[in-house]
Amino acid sequence: MPSTIDEIRTALETRLTAARDAQDVRSAQIEYLGKKGTVTALLKQISGVAEDQRRQFGEQVNALKQWAAQAIEQRLSNLSFTTRRYDIDFSLPGQLMPAGKKHILTQVEEEVESVFLSMGFDIEEGPEIEQEYYNFEALNIPADHPARDMQDTFYLAPGMLLRTHTSPIQVRTMKRENPPIRMIATGRCYRRDAVDASHTPVFTQVEGLVIDKDITFADLKGVLQEFVRGVFGSSTNVKLLPSFFPFVEPGAETAISCPICGGKGCPTCKNSGWIEMGGSGMVHQNVLQEVGYDPSIYQGFAFGWGIERIAMIKYGIRDIRMFYDNDLDFLGQF
Ligand SMILES: [Zn+2]
Repeated sequence: MPSTIDEIRTALETRLTAARDAQDVRSAQIEYLGKKGTVTALLKQISGVAEDQRRQFGEQVNALKQWAAQAIEQRLSNLSFTTRRYDIDFSLPGQLMPAGKKHILTQVEEEVESVFLSMGFDIEEGPEIEQEYYNFEALNIPADHPARDMQDTFYLAPGMLLRTHTSPIQVRTMKRENPPIRMIATGRCYRRDAVDASHTPVFTQVEGLVIDKDITFADLKGVLQEFVRGVFGSSTNVKLLPSFFPFVEPGAETAISCPICGGKGCPTCKNSGWIEMGGSGMVHQNVLQEVGYDPSIYQGFAFGWGIERIAMIKYGIRDIRMFYDNDLDFLGQF
């Protein structure tokens, strides 16, 4: 009998190893452990074995039954693991997950910030809902100035408005800190402009301010030069043209050599080789006095440019409305 038990065990082992799928294993299970199975038949024989051998035989057959049940389960789970692996077709194309990315304006904002951070500037922030005082009065824009006209500004309540530029952040920074100051601020600004290819009621500015002893117009030009070279490329030049802004004296419109044609002349620069980028100038004495700085000791310069304009020139975008249309095909290009 022991030899029969060993033979059954070996035969089942061979059978299970050869099984190619769960079906094979199931039929072996029936063959060995089913009602008419080989092992079941042995179990039935136990009672007929001579009394002195019955106990030993019974233990051997029960051990065989337990082993067979375990071996079958083990083989089934191995097979289902293997089968599951073969169920995956690695040649099928994967499902593309659309990858989110930063908005083009955010990207340009961060690029501008990194250029100024490399020059040792701090980044400041300020509220979009601003007091009239910080937006206008403290910046030497008197009550009768055209910029305070209802047509240009969104007033929310008497004395409260949506900031029309990032310049109030200058005032807040100067009132909070003592010179030297080297800061930029980026953020949304609001004006009651009709929407067209170059105007939107919401736009983004980058504001710069430097206050220290012995700051000159040459420092302004040097910093702007570094700025535009960092953003538009190392061969870009800066030109300052006389202009007027109430909070600077002297004031300048800043033009850069056209990064598209390299200054030779093209439709973007209207064949002039130069593109106007935004205002700048030396901080007006009235502004310095307003924040409590002594203009005989401290001077400074400031500038305010549009992030949209920078992005339009850098990427050849013709219409400012594209930034706000939320067209994913457009935004996905950057
Ligand atoms: Zn050009």
